[in-house]
Parts: sequence; C-alpha cells; structure tokens
Amino acid sequence: MKKGLIVLHTGNGKGKTTAALGIILRSVGHNLKVCMVQFIKGNWKTGEIEALKSFENKVKVYVSGKGFTWESKNIEEDIEAAQDAWNLAKTVIDSGKYNLVVLDELTYLIKYNFVKEEDILDALNNKPKDLHIVITGRNASEKLIEVADLVSEVNVLKHPYKEGIKAQKGIEF
Ligand code: ATP
Ligand code: MG
Repeated sequence: MKKGLIVLHTGNGKGKTTAALGIILRSVGHNLKVCMVQFIKGNWKTGEIEALKSFENKVKVYVSGKGFTWESKNIEEDIEAAQDAWNLAKTVIDSGKYNLVVLDELTYLIKYNFVKEEDILDALNNKPKDLHIVITGRNASEKLIEVADLVSEVNVLKHPYKEGIKAQKGIEF
C-alpha cells in the first residue's frame, strides 16, 4: 500500500537536515521527483546546495526566507520573507509535480508566529495523497507532531561546539 508520509525531524541535536538530505539522496536513486524549500538562509555556502546542482533535473531547490531571527535587523522584512517562502512551499505541495517535498527548518515559522500554524496544518492535512513531506527544525509544535506520521527527535549527547570547536566543512555545512 502506497501512502505519502509526513516525516518530522526535530530536537536539539545535530542531524535533522542531513537526515532529510539522506532521504533526498535515496529518493533520487528511485527517480522520484524531489523539491526542497529551505526556510532559513545561513551565512555559509553549504555543500548540499552545491552538490544538489548536479541533480538539477531531479531535485528542485528553493532557498527562501531570511537568516536567523536573532541576527535580524528588520523583523518586518523577515516576517514578509517567511510568508513568501511559505506561499511558495504551499504552491509546491499543491502542484502535484513532486513525490517528495522537504521543508527544511519549517518549525521556526510556527515557533516565531511568522505564519499561522493553522495554515501550515491545513496544507499538510490536504496534501496530495501520495506525496511524502519531510519537515525539519527544532522545537516542533505539539500539533505538528500530531499531524506527522513519523517523528524522530535528535538529542544531543555531545557537540564539539561545547568544546569551542568551530563548524567543520563537510560535517556542518
Ligand atoms: P545538520 O544540518 O548538520 O543535519 P541540524 O539540521 O540537525 O544539523 P540545526 O538545528 O538546523 O541542525 O542547526 C544548524 C547548525 O547548528 C548545524 O550546523 C549544527 O551542527 C549546529 N548544531 C546542532 N546541534 C547543536 C548543538 N547542540 N550545539 C551547537 N550547535 C549545534
Ligand atoms: Mg537543520
């Protein structure tokens, strides 16, 4: 029986986005059509965005939204960017063009009230039947957890950041 799943990777540990990228890799191997929307744009050029360029006819990537809120200079602009990004994601979900849609760092839109939680839950509840959706981000809301079929929480046991070791190329970006 084929069923489109809603997969959620949350928690404070490292590995949420990389696990989503692993699912993308796996899906590409099956010739599934994939789209990823990244809701938070980091400062670094990430390896994954570069690597996905080699799959440009298999994986559509949108890097949308602004940077991290705590680095923000203009919160109004951030909210607008987040809403635009969400509208784009909704169009992608409803398009019926994809087998897998990854919504990377979506949880923050809810956490910071950038987008109405109901709108997001609505879109997820009414997604095309066969479509798989993978959501990542810390602090997933209770309702998001409820709507998901598969939820994994990544916990931190150790992180080099605590020892003052900075982010390493290939491991973190
Ligand atoms: P990755 O993209 O490596 O899979 P992630 O998606 O699980 O990580 P995010 O919550 O999106 O992690 O955080 C982004 C960045 O913060 C990553 O570079 C990650 O290594 C780093 N990070 C994750 N957990 C911790 C932590 N406990 N302390 C400090 N930095 C962390
Ligand atoms: Mg992440």
